Amino acid sequence: MEAVAFLCLAAAVLGWGFLWVWDSWERMKGQKPAGLPGDGSRTLLVIAHPDDEAMFFAPTVLGLARLRHRLSLLCFSAGNYYNQGEIRKKELLQSCDVLGIPPSSIMIIDNRDFPDDPGVQWDTEHVASTLLQHIEVNSINLVVTFDAGGVSGHSNHVALYAAVRTLHSEGKLPKGCSVLTLQSVNVLRKYISLLDLPFTLLQTRDVLFVLTSKEVAQAKKAMSCHRSQLLWFRRLYVLFSRYMRINSLHFL
Ligand SMILES: [Zn+2]
Repeated sequence: MEAVAFLCLAAAVLGWGFLWVWDSWERMKGQKPAGLPGDGSRTLLVIAHPDDEAMFFAPTVLGLARLRHRLSLLCFSAGNYYNQGEIRKKELLQSCDVLGIPPSSIMIIDNRDFPDDPGVQWDTEHVASTLLQHIEVNSINLVVTFDAGGVSGHSNHVALYAAVRTLHSEGKLPKGCSVLTLQSVNVLRKYISLLDLPFTLLQTRDVLFVLTSKEVAQAKKAMSCHRSQLLWFRRLYVLFSRYMRINSLHFL
């Protein structure tokens, strides 16, 4: 008898949880998140390596396309850690083509100041001044990049956050230019795919993008363009990572 009561209670809690997630998701869909610039916003995605855009930011790229942002991309390295820089630059262009970012909106910085190397700390001031120049020349009004955790903890990712944080706190960003950072989550949440949605919805966040199944296929196709990087563990990543389906972001 007690077992039946327990099962009924568990079913009720599960059912309520499911409905809550569903309702929150339905209400959120189609709404432009508060504080996000609207139609025609000149938005810049700042990444450290070719594949960051597909591996971590695909929901943001496709979500911003839904909101009709004019998205451009600035990549601070060619991803030359294994001397594959030339291949990886081409792969980035192919991936961006799948994600809807034209070659004319992509800039890849390929110099010794910003090596693809987790053991090298990029100079924050130098990253910041390079980024600021790009923002000003292109009249950017929204910058999107990593947060302090850098999603994977890679020091090149974290260097981008440090630079944008410096520009923001020193008031150097042009008036009307805001910054969104991609929330890093713990390793358990990182690999439970869409099951992370209830945890994400429970947390305060400024902007949330969740991909439809059609868009997930698009994100996977973009990731498959990075052939040189598709080692077995990255194939598993594509299957299980929440970042291929969900992006939650915070304003600085
Ligand atoms: Zn990276």
